Amino acid sequence: MSSPVAVSDQLSGLAGSGVGSAAVLERYDQVLMKTFGTPKRVFVRGEGCYVWDAEGRRYLDLLSGLAVNALGHAHPTVLSAITGQIATLGHVSNFFATPAQVALADRLVAMAAGHRPGRVFFTNSGTEANEAAFKITRLTGRTKIIACEGAFHGRSMGALAITHSAKYREPFEPLPGEVTFVPYGDADALAAAVDGETAAVVVEPIQGENGVVVPPAGYLTRARELTAAHGALLWIDEVQTGVGRTGDWLVHRAEGVDADIVTLAKGLGNGFPIGACVAAGAAAELLGPGSHGSTFGGNPVAAIAGLAVLAVIERDGLLAHATAMGEHLVDAVGRLGHPLVAGVRGRGLLRGIVLTEPIAGAVSDAALDAGFVINAPRPDVLRLAPPLIVTATQLDGFVAALPGLLDTAREGEH
Ligand SMILES: *Cc1c(COP(=O)(O)O)cnc(C)c1O
Repeated sequence: MSSPVAVSDQLSGLAGSGVGSAAVLERYDQVLMKTFGTPKRVFVRGEGCYVWDAEGRRYLDLLSGLAVNALGHAHPTVLSAITGQIATLGHVSNFFATPAQVALADRLVAMAAGHRPGRVFFTNSGTEANEAAFKITRLTGRTKIIACEGAFHGRSMGALAITHSAKYREPFEPLPGEVTFVPYGDADALAAAVDGETAAVVVEPIQGENGVVVPPAGYLTRARELTAAHGALLWIDEVQTGVGRTGDWLVHRAEGVDADIVTLAKGLGNGFPIGACVAAGAAAELLGPGSHGSTFGGNPVAAIAGLAVLAVIERDGLLAHATAMGEHLVDAVGRLGHPLVAGVRGRGLLRGIVLTEPIAGAVSDAALDAGFVINAPRPDVLRLAPPLIVTATQLDGFVAALPGLLDTAREGEH
């Protein structure tokens, strides 16, 4: 007879009533690699658009774990789908198929490939989805890739090779080579760079990590025309923008663009790790038997989470809601007429509030102290990526607090 194990005992006294953030952070500092800096809070619970810290303080989560928790925390449909699946069949490896995996692939092919035939390779993250895409490009017989200045595609070596930030890249060079960076949003620069040796152009429809930078209208269409003219693949990274975040399932599809490869991750599993590389047409046939793999990718629990997310977005009309709430936020921030706000950019519920001074980090800290989770992807940009279920009242609460946060931050700077 095995004796029962209380999993909470395994938390080494780091959770439960009376255990505060300080104890957790002290151990964090000892045993976690120092990749992320010191965490600003210890969160212990989430529900809907709110999270609670170890001291019981409530925060309005306007970041969704980096554009991940599209349906908020502990969404009942996702919860019951995941728990039902894991109680039935949790994992079998890719030696075998599961109905959930195939059903989700069907949905994603319809979403990303439209009328064209397509195929999916499932991963556990965005960077891995981009690795799969990178490997597909190598099988075209060409090796040159064109990426964009300001681009972020992930931290694994292939994804890093197409990520622009020198700070992220340089310590890890040499990276897979033959990547050329062109100014983002500049179709003429792209036209000058693409030629008959280009394997692929990789582009984000909106550069989220670079501060929610939106390219000029028609940019993706030009990228499609240029790649098609030179026999190169168009690879669109919708890891951050995809699955409803911007008020459409996919930004490039909403603009009528047919990509060869689309990568997805963040919003797909509502926090259950899942990514997908979806290829259409001839690009879908390049990876063959043995050319790529994953132990966990397409795990039925992850797949059912993805299916639950898609079903709820559809049932609850969350694409239209995301569009409406995004516009509500832009209007409300605009009405403040605050001198430190230069404007709001983005689409749907992926938004950057652009400041006239580089105090976004301090504003983000002040917001946290006031009970709002946001972040500062650039010194002069606040990013909001709230759950798609966020209400106008919740957004208004943040907007009402914003002038005070801006003033607090500016006073702290001077
Ligand atoms: C976050 C992100 C990635 C990397 O995803 P991970 O899951 O962190 O590996 C890739 N591309 C874009 C556009 C992203 O925003």
